[in-house]
Amino acid sequence: MANKAVFLDRDGVVNVDHAYVYKIEDFEFIDGVFEACQLFQAAGYKIVIVTNQSGIGRGYYSEQDFHLLTKWMVAQFSAHDIEVSKVYFCPHHPTKGVAGYQQDCDCRKPKPGMLLRGVEELALDASECIMFGDKGSDMLAAKAAGFKKKILVKSGQSLSEQELLLADEVWDSLDCAREKFSENN
Ligand SMILES: [Mg+2]
Ligand SMILES: [Zn+2]
Repeated sequence: MANKAVFLDRDGVVNVDHAYVYKIEDFEFIDGVFEACQLFQAAGYKIVIVTNQSGIGRGYYSEQDFHLLTKWMVAQFSAHDIEVSKVYFCPHHPTKGVAGYQQDCDCRKPKPGMLLRGVEELALDASECIMFGDKGSDMLAAKAAGFKKKILVKSGQSLSEQELLLADEVWDSLDCAREKFSENN
């Protein structure tokens, strides 16, 4: 069986996007996330999270804050029998970053750097991987990484016509997985 993964954007896909979420008390899981990930796992997919976190680069919160929240988030997945294989984050911003964080990096989506790193570190077959995101930039990153499928969910940002055209499928949220995801994926 191919070594494959479902890549999830975080804000707007896993949790409600309250903008620059970095505290546990502000982290609200979107309905159906755990059930969806259980289905993906049962179909042989690893789970990877790839998230732009320019709030770090902008100085709104620290990498330490991000790591504390991530540790808690991964524990919530574990409590639902879901293993999150990797969490990748981009702390940079091309124009709004402070100090060393201001850079035109390869990891901030729509660049595919985080996705490619996941493919390499987990020895995945990119052509069997699926990306879920709530923005066009998530879709562009998946396209550049050569993923099999890119799915937009409407549980985050409002989407333009142009962004909708970048997706292979559009779901209301991960809560649709039971109905829309089959083992053929
Ligand atoms: Mg998002
Ligand atoms: Zn970056």
